Amino acid sequence: MDQKVIVRFAPSPTGFLHLGSGRTALFNWLVARRYGGHFLLRVEDTDKVRSEQRFLDEILEDLHWLGLDWDGEPIHQSHRFELYRAKAEELIAAGTAYREGPAVLFKVEPGRTIAFEDLIHGRIAVNTETLKDQVLIKSDGSPAYNFSCVVDDSEQGITHIMRGDDHISNTPKQILFYEAFGLIPPRFGHMPLILGGDGAKLSKRHGGVSVAEYRADGFLPEALANYLILLGWTPPDEKEILTLGEAARLFEIDRMGSVQAKFDLAKLTWMNGEYIMRKSASELSVLLDARLTAEGFDIRRVPPEKRLGIAEAYRIRIKTLQEFSPLADFFYRDDYMVDEEGRKKHLDPAEAKILLGLLAGRLEPLEPFSHDSLEAAVRDLAQERGIKPAAIIHPARLAVSGKTRGAGLFEIMELLGRETVVRRLKEATR
Ligand code: GLU
Repeated sequence: MDQKVIVRFAPSPTGFLHLGSGRTALFNWLVARRYGGHFLLRVEDTDKVRSEQRFLDEILEDLHWLGLDWDGEPIHQSHRFELYRAKAEELIAAGTAYREGPAVLFKVEPGRTIAFEDLIHGRIAVNTETLKDQVLIKSDGSPAYNFSCVVDDSEQGITHIMRGDDHISNTPKQILFYEAFGLIPPRFGHMPLILGGDGAKLSKRHGGVSVAEYRADGFLPEALANYLILLGWTPPDEKEILTLGEAARLFEIDRMGSVQAKFDLAKLTWMNGEYIMRKSASELSVLLDARLTAEGFDIRRVPPEKRLGIAEAYRIRIKTLQEFSPLADFFYRDDYMVDEEGRKKHLDPAEAKILLGLLAGRLEPLEPFSHDSLEAAVRDLAQERGIKPAAIIHPARLAVSGKTRGAGLFEIMELLGRETVVRRLKEATR
């Protein structure tokens, strides 16, 4: 790139940050970081009724959460109405625009072809026959999107505009305005929309449409950002797991996809599991603590070094943070969820109660109360009774955790500690 790259993300704060907009932001950021340019933020809040501060706050928070940073302070279109009106006056004076009551319209000359070389789709051309005169300033004095967009993109020196395919029809209109001001338009790249796996418009039933929903569902920002990037770009060696930093080093606009991307929740979930697995126990423990606290658990009941051990034990067993508490609630409270099927099968038989009573008796004085000695105690008891260790392990797991799956029983028992284990085993014999 021979000129300094300046890109922008221009959200309208009229709702939450859609996954597609999150992806748009990511790609603009990638372009800036890859080519040593600037990534600016512009708040397109010209619709004063539908724009709300809470939406803007959420959007900025979601962008930060995804790992994006921007250069300088965002500009707000709602503060710039005077500028748009002055720019419209310029076009009136030049004879390319006219007043219609309080509104200002742009004269579209018929019979012209407006063409541009899209960075993703290649040449796109439209005939002006298909275009009506374009509103620049509405009768309430607010600017039309296409006009404020061009005024600001040119004022901010934007060199590349990456946005969704839904804006393709706006681009020729915007090019007309650049021409009227005697300006060279920026380069445009329109990204195909994200569809659900069934080819329908992305909706709640595909797993959610907003970045915030995935955050609430226990996805990690690194995984969501990584996945969204793959929905628009194929890394050179087809390596799938890559951080934003790596993507920013390898990114090439040429390798962006021009066909609609299908959102695959199973793949995102797999990827999230990969990111969870790559966390250190202490990093994961911080995330789990925050999640549990938000879910109403009192994590202080478990000392920090135990919480670290729990994170280590479950790191390879959860794909999302949301999956953690249903599997591991028993570490943090006594009224944990119990798998009823498992309880009937493993705890109700009289034989199981006898075994758990015997096991409790052996674990009470066990020294040390550790994974290996617990395992030996269970194996010895099984051998003495002429049964398989599994005949003790299954009921014991149910008794101490209420679950049929999760981390290994001896790991769980060591983490829970003697007092809790013995108490729960005894309770299960009743
Ligand atoms: N505010 C517009 C949107 O959110 C921006 C479109 C553009 O990037 O030009 O769709």
